[in-house]
Amino acid sequence: MKILVLNSGSSSVKFQVIETDLERMNAHEDRTLATGQVEKIGLDDSRLVLNVPGRKPVADYREILEHRAAIEWALRVLSDPLNGILDGVDDIDAVGHRVVHGGEAFASSVIMTPDVVQQIEECSVLAPLHNPPNLRGYQAAYAALPDVPHIAVFDTAFHQTMSPHAFLYGIPFQLYTKHALRKYGFHGTSHRYVAFRGSQILDWDKGDKKLITVHLGNGCSLAAIDHGKSVDTSMGFTPLEGLLMGTRTGDMDPAIVPWLMAMEEMTLHQVNTMMNKHSGLYGVSGVSSDMRELVEARADGHQRADVAFRMFCYRVKKYIGAYAAAMGGVDAVFFTGGIGENSPEVREWALGGLEYMGIEVDTEINATLVGGEGEITTEDSRARVLVVPTNEEKTIARDVVRVLNGIMPTFEPPETVTP
Ligand code: ADP
Repeated sequence: MKILVLNSGSSSVKFQVIETDLERMNAHEDRTLATGQVEKIGLDDSRLVLNVPGRKPVADYREILEHRAAIEWALRVLSDPLNGILDGVDDIDAVGHRVVHGGEAFASSVIMTPDVVQQIEECSVLAPLHNPPNLRGYQAAYAALPDVPHIAVFDTAFHQTMSPHAFLYGIPFQLYTKHALRKYGFHGTSHRYVAFRGSQILDWDKGDKKLITVHLGNGCSLAAIDHGKSVDTSMGFTPLEGLLMGTRTGDMDPAIVPWLMAMEEMTLHQVNTMMNKHSGLYGVSGVSSDMRELVEARADGHQRADVAFRMFCYRVKKYIGAYAAAMGGVDAVFFTGGIGENSPEVREWALGGLEYMGIEVDTEINATLVGGEGEITTEDSRARVLVVPTNEEKTIARDVVRVLNGIMPTFEPPETVTP
């Protein structure tokens, strides 16, 4: 099957065409035929970039005012005989849509029916910046491809197996029942894929193991995956909680918010912007949110870059320890994301001193594993550590196949708490 995977943001649509089916999935032979994006939607110099493996990227510019025109443009380019990707739009068998927030309504991927679309709309209050553009992308794609199934794949769904003791906050319970204020967690597609792929490399049935997946990109999160189910994750009600990130604070004392509003006379909006855009690696170092630049700066003796780097790694280590405690041990840790895949320094610092947990890093192998798949622990290490490049689009395409074949695993929701 040829599956169009769409990730629709407010001013961009990222797309991929992936060829996969049950056989290819089992053999790990799914093929990405093309990737691309339309950027700056709403402006007069919108740009489309198309990457076809083995060829030079192609870019084109025009005025694109809304998602419908963006997706029509992408489909035209993908169907252009000169690009040799699709024989026409009819060549697309199904569309997979990344949807950020499925709230408590969705614990797995689903076919987008009018009911499902309405429920996603209702979840918009939880992700006002993300779900509405996700839905605009769906509506545009549905208009262009009304005869194929459209499947929603949620960032939050994988973590719906968390129990109330892990997902509730210590605030009055009525705020949970009234506003669904709780931990949801994000990056679910990545954690799920990496847990699956890491277990496949080790020839393990992940259903038997205690895994910690560590996704370190611009946004960062960990998940504790016990016997195949996410039992805890570091992002929360929003992606702000947990690890230090490129520009986000991660965990901090919530009392800082009212304190800043009183002492610095900052508005709620200003504090929110500060916590999401001006903090994290960037805010602490004053150098950059980009880990590559930070690693270079600390090598040049930049002290704030050094402390930001240490804070970043220290938090990863603390969460690994916390999740091993939560699960009563850990069999493997899988690193992924731009930083997890490419930064031996971060992996070494985050894992240093965890020998008592059975983690023994082979520093030479770790130092050379950049951008690939492989193990970085020694032969004697009781717990294994692997680097597993993530592939969220592939997971979305595979979910399309699973949903259409009726084999999408569904998990029992956790026990409910009655008020
Ligand atoms: P996103 O979360 O936006 O998908 P990525 O997963 O691409 O982000 O990760 C981006 C991060 O990965 C940036 O901080 C970047 O500096 C970091 N990164 C990429 N390559 C390297 C590298 N070779 N060494 C250290 N960090 C890297």
